[in-house]
Amino acid sequence: GTPLLTVRDLHVDYFDQENPVHAVRGVDLTLRRGETLGIVGESGCGKSTLVTAMTRLERPPAVTTAGSVILHGHDGADNTDILRLTERQLAALRWEKMAIVFQSAMNALNPVLRLGTQFADVLRKHRGLSKKAAWERAGELLGMVGIPADRLRSYAHELSGGMRQRATIALALACQPDLVVMDEPTTAVDVVMQRQILRQVARLKRELGFSVVFITHDLSLLIEIADRIAVMYAGKIVETGPPRRLYEDPRHPYTTALRGAFPPLHGERREITGIPGSPPGLRTPPPGCSFHPRCAQRLDACDREEPLLLRLGGEAGDVACHLHRNPATTPEAEDRHAR
Ligand code: SF4
Ligand code: MG
Repeated sequence: GTPLLTVRDLHVDYFDQENPVHAVRGVDLTLRRGETLGIVGESGCGKSTLVTAMTRLERPPAVTTAGSVILHGHDGADNTDILRLTERQLAALRWEKMAIVFQSAMNALNPVLRLGTQFADVLRKHRGLSKKAAWERAGELLGMVGIPADRLRSYAHELSGGMRQRATIALALACQPDLVVMDEPTTAVDVVMQRQILRQVARLKRELGFSVVFITHDLSLLIEIADRIAVMYAGKIVETGPPRRLYEDPRHPYTTALRGAFPPLHGERREITGIPGSPPGLRTPPPGCSFHPRCAQRLDACDREEPLLLRLGGEAGDVACHLHRNPATTPEAEDRHAR
């Protein structure tokens, strides 16, 4: 598909102490229209920071210090750099172009308002619907995620965890955004509910045609739902690729470790192996390859030279690891990393 969103050289720092934490360190990503892009990594790898910066929801002490996030126009419309919009311009994009679903539904839903009131507020403000039409539309939206319309009169705390999370997803879809970002949307629910929610999201995506950026620490989950996966470590993308290639033939040792850490949802059971050590502190990231202190395959150069993200060729994706120095020295790869 055509690109919807292009992230270039994005940097985000936390300035809460004298030495900033470099949480996102030069991320390049492209999201195509209608695609589900999965971003995976252990907690503390910068995933949430990346998507909050991409959607301009980051708050101090997080500061986006460099980069661009281009929202590509449709049908001849202009491209927009989200990072350069005023708050006012941004407000016009929210809900209608992009929406975000957080891990905790309680943060997204207002505890003192009925569900219907919250949905109706968004629909009246952004879609100009009358109160009656907004409540009707809110009922339809809840129906899309399998919640009966009489729940419009309920407060968030009166719903089960799974229902709350589905209501948050329905709310995100209220204005038919092109992009829905989901940050670990199913971690607070049980496995059965998780599967149900993911099936619903997949169906809605087919019907409505939006793109998804889905964040999780669980690689096996992404293998099932993503069209493409980006593996993040210590604030950088270290490997990208289609789920099948990534799972059957991971190139970065960290991807291999993540695969070993999560059992597949279907198929053969493999022994689960934890990843030794933990992600590095990012005030002073390790020199060279950030993964080298935990890497069983490290080479002499790994603690000195930083591996660049290089194309593997074709649709196979990219990898940043000295084990794969010249996967495919394409002109695009040269061009992307010449900066
Ligand atoms: Fe391991 Fe070296 Fe590859 Fe880093 S660059 S993942 S340390 S082999
Ligand atoms: Mg997170």
